[in-house]
Amino acid sequence: MFEYQAPENLLKDRVILVTGAGDGIGRIAAKTYAAHGATVILLGRTLEKLEHVYDEIEAAGHPQPALVPLNLESAQEHDFIELTNTLEQEFGKLDGILHNAGLLGVRTPIESYDPVIWQQVMQVNVNAPFMLTQTLMPLLERSENASVVFTSSGVGRKSKAYWGAYAVSKFATEGLMQTLADEISNVSNIRSNCINPGATRTQMRADAYPAENPGTLKTPEDIMPLYLYLMGPDSIDINGQSLDAQ
Ligand code: NAP
Repeated sequence: MFEYQAPENLLKDRVILVTGAGDGIGRIAAKTYAAHGATVILLGRTLEKLEHVYDEIEAAGHPQPALVPLNLESAQEHDFIELTNTLEQEFGKLDGILHNAGLLGVRTPIESYDPVIWQQVMQVNVNAPFMLTQTLMPLLERSENASVVFTSSGVGRKSKAYWGAYAVSKFATEGLMQTLADEISNVSNIRSNCINPGATRTQMRADAYPAENPGTLKTPEDIMPLYLYLMGPDSIDINGQSLDAQ
């Protein structure tokens, strides 16, 4: 496990956008960031789930979050511009993005992979994070030190049969992270890194490994030390890395 003990006020006064914040790892990351003082922007496609996370954060007495219902599969450039304008008016800056939303797609040989599902996976896992990052960069530049965290996977470093668009999208995620990191290295207050969560007890993992006993897996709560480290100022000199949460 990645070892890091975060101070309670690690993210005080920081504004952090979490995609896929309604469920799984994103839900716990959003709650964890809020518990460490951040104002969290909860982006996801299922409003009820986002509202539930919103209520949980409010009930815990943490900074009031913001809700952004947005389907990253169908979102267009104007949606990202609208979001950027709203965040600028509300907060004037952005200190971090956790690109966490992801689609598994199907586990099928390339030979029979459905091109429609391929496009959906690439849209949610790669194209949307690209557009979101690009549009939000001026707001990230206004932070004292901003962190862009992408979510990779083991199959984004070494692929395996039948992982199809998911594996390819995670290789692309690593590439996007590295390209951005090299561009901003030494000339920007922004840093860009990847997290590989490792096998984690969520719906996506259960969909990928239906025969597995979820009780044997780490929970999203277990892997939060790396999520905190990369979002807070202790990782200010880390750029262009792909780190394992487990
Ligand atoms: P999850 O439980 O399936 O949660 C994924 C989240 O992304 C959900 O909240 C989902 O929204 C949201 N999402 C999916 N498509 C979206 C779209 N089109 N627009 C907006 N939001 C969308 O998955 P997870 O296991 O927490 O995975 C989180 C990240 O970790 C993913 O990038 C995944 O690839 C990566 N990862 C996970 C594991 C693991 O073992 N769990 C391992 C390696 C990498 P809904 O709730 O509305 O469906």
